[in-house]
This record gives sequence, C-alpha cells and structure tokens, in this order.
Amino acid sequence: MKAWSARSVPDLPGEAPLPVVQDTRLRRRAELPRQERAGLYVCGITPYDATHMGHAATYVAFDVLHRAWLDAGTPVDYVQNVTDVDDPLLERAEATGVDWRELAAEQTELFRTDMSALNVLPPQHYVGATEVVDRIVPAVEGLVARSLAYPVPGQDGEPDGDVYFDVEAAGALAPDDEDAWVLGDVSHLGPEQMLPLFAERGGDPDRPGKRHRLDPLLWRVHRPGEPAWAGASLGEGRPGWHIECSLIALEYLPAPFTVQGGGSDLVFPHHEMGAGHSWALTGRPMAEHFLHTGMVGLDGEKMSKSRGNLVLVSTLRAEGVDPAVIRTAILAHRYSDDWFWTDLVLAGAVVRVDAWRRALAAAPEGSAAPLLEAVRTALADDLDSPAALAALDDWAAGALTGGPAECSAPDAQLVRDLVEARLGVVL
Ligand SMILES: [Zn+2]
Repeated sequence: MKAWSARSVPDLPGEAPLPVVQDTRLRRRAELPRQERAGLYVCGITPYDATHMGHAATYVAFDVLHRAWLDAGTPVDYVQNVTDVDDPLLERAEATGVDWRELAAEQTELFRTDMSALNVLPPQHYVGATEVVDRIVPAVEGLVARSLAYPVPGQDGEPDGDVYFDVEAAGALAPDDEDAWVLGDVSHLGPEQMLPLFAERGGDPDRPGKRHRLDPLLWRVHRPGEPAWAGASLGEGRPGWHIECSLIALEYLPAPFTVQGGGSDLVFPHHEMGAGHSWALTGRPMAEHFLHTGMVGLDGEKMSKSRGNLVLVSTLRAEGVDPAVIRTAILAHRYSDDWFWTDLVLAGAVVRVDAWRRALAAAPEGSAAPLLEAVRTALADDLDSPAALAALDDWAAGALTGGPAECSAPDAQLVRDLVEARLGVVL
C-alpha cells in the first residue's frame, strides 16, 4: 500500500559516526555494522486506534535511527507492515458496527497523515498483511511439511485445522549452531514470565491440542462472520500476527537484516516468535539487532484504549499544537525509557522550540559547527536525544545573549539543517 510523504533530508557537512545501540537480544550495547545499505523493519500499527503518543514515540525513535544512518552515509531499506486484519481490529469493527476494511482504511490513513505531519521518513515498502496472504500460505505449508508446524483438531465448537508453530521443534533444528533460535533467544524470559505475556498479548496457552502452551498461531481457519483467504492445503482462513511480519521482512530484506524495531511490548511474544519463524524458514537469524522503545503513559497511568486516556497526535494537531513541538516533546526522553505524557512535557517543548527559533535569528558566527559535533556525538550514544536537545538549548541560550545584530546567516542555516536532518524537527 502507499506510505506517506515527508520532507527531504538536508545534507550536512562531513560524516557522522554510526551509533552504538542497546540491543535487547544481545543484552548489551552494540555498534551498528558499517554496511552498504542498512535494513530496518519496524512493526506497524494494527489500524484501530491510530496514532497515540506511544505509536508516535516509537516511529519517531526509529526515524531518528533512520536519520543517523543517512548522516553516516548509509542508505536505508525501510520496511513497515500494517496488521490490517487481526482479532483486535475485527473486534473493534464488530463493536462499533463498522466494516473492518473501512475501519482499517480510515485508521491507516489517519496514521499516514500523522506520520507525515511529524516528518517521519516513510518506509520504501509499506505492506498490509492482506497483501501477503498468498505468500504466507506456502510458507506455513512448508513448515507443516517439515513438522515445524501442525494443525490442531477443533473442540468446543471450534473448527478443525488451526495451524500452530512448534516452538520446541524449531528450537531443536540446529543445536550446535550459535546463531540458532531457541525460545527465549530474543526476550531472555523464562516460561513463567512468558505464559502471562503470551495470554495477554493475543496468545492462547490453554487451547486444547497444542503441543506446547507457547506455540503461536500461524493460520486460523475460517469462522463464520470472519474474513478469509484461500489457504490451499491449509483451508480457507487468515494468517497469525507473527508470521505476517516474518514474511514481509523476508520478502523485502535480506536475513539477517540490520535492525528489527518496535515497542517493548513487542519483545514477547511478537519478536520472539517472529525470529523463530524466520529461523525456521531460512536457517538464518532474522535480524542482527533488536531495538525496543519504552512505553508512554499519561499522567502516571498506563495509556490504553480501555482506560479511555489515549493522547492522539491527531487531537493535538487539531488543537493547533505544532508537530515540531510534539516531536521535541518526544525527543526530550530516551527512546528506550518508559515515560509519561503530561501538560508539563508539552509546555516544556513549546518553550524549547520557541527559544530555538528565536536563537536562529541571532546565531553567532562559528557556533554551528561545534553544535553539529555535539549533536552527532550525543546521537551516536544510543540515540541520546535528550543530550542532543540539551546541546541545542545551550547553543540557543548563548545565541540569545548576543542579539540579532550578530546573526550569522550561514550558521543559522546549518543549525536549521542540523535540527531537521538529525531530529526531524522543522524550525
Ligand atoms: Zn511485527
């Protein structure tokens, strides 16, 4: 499907270092590899409640990574999915009496509009789950043929034939290969930690007939009233969530690609199982690095649709909040930290952006090059955007003590380009 548009990225003089990033799977900081092209896959939305501040913070964080690669001279192949058919979407459509396709199309469009407003660089491949069902079917059939997946008999009114991934069989494929995936490879969780998360995040540990309680669904056969696609030997149905991302990633990126990204609520089971699927399908790891963003709450509480406390980017925009301010408010936090959206966070970003803009009219001669260095250094340290913003604050404070008489136009332009190229903030 079509992605969205963003402003072209200004060129900056010299070349930035590649960032060191905190890798969830490796459980340590790792220097991103020098490559001809980087591959980035960020899990996309399920389009039923776009775009709350948690979504925005995640896509802005990976946009800052994208921009870090570009400033280091590395082009990025960026892929993102849209889970445009899944239980939560169908449940919301049912509850609100809207056709699921209309709900998905409307919310995806809202997401695109928000991303464009936030100046998030678009993926080259923006792919809906419904667009790849015909590729998922043979992949699942292949796993069944190799006994890495199996159909479950129906019970309690459920039809026969839902197909599950065998986590133990996949984990035993190559016991001596240090790259091999085994359950826990990405998340490092024990079974007692996995079970409640699996149940909470779409899994069905108590489904009778499964070989292992943590085996995830690959193919759900057709139920009356649910959408379904041709499934060849699997029978009509629809794909599970994790196999969707694995297939889309494998379609457009080499395995392993450079970074798999998403919110920290995707570490388990989504990224764990996605890595398992990819390993089972290719015999190679899915990604070299796994990066995760923290959760964003509201005023000390978890932000969720069920609590009715979602802060939506579209609402803020409708209230007249400058998207540059929204981005700055997000970037005031380390991407990997959990944090809370508050009025104070927003007010702080308003003051900041205003100061930076006033300072541009008073940029001291020779001040931009050291700032460029400071921002690049900050962002090379696991995308430390708060440190980058602090450097900008210092620069602005210095500029504002001088006054417009001392304004250097080339310095002002370089600072403007720097803030846009690296932080995506348009001053
Ligand atoms: Zn995903």
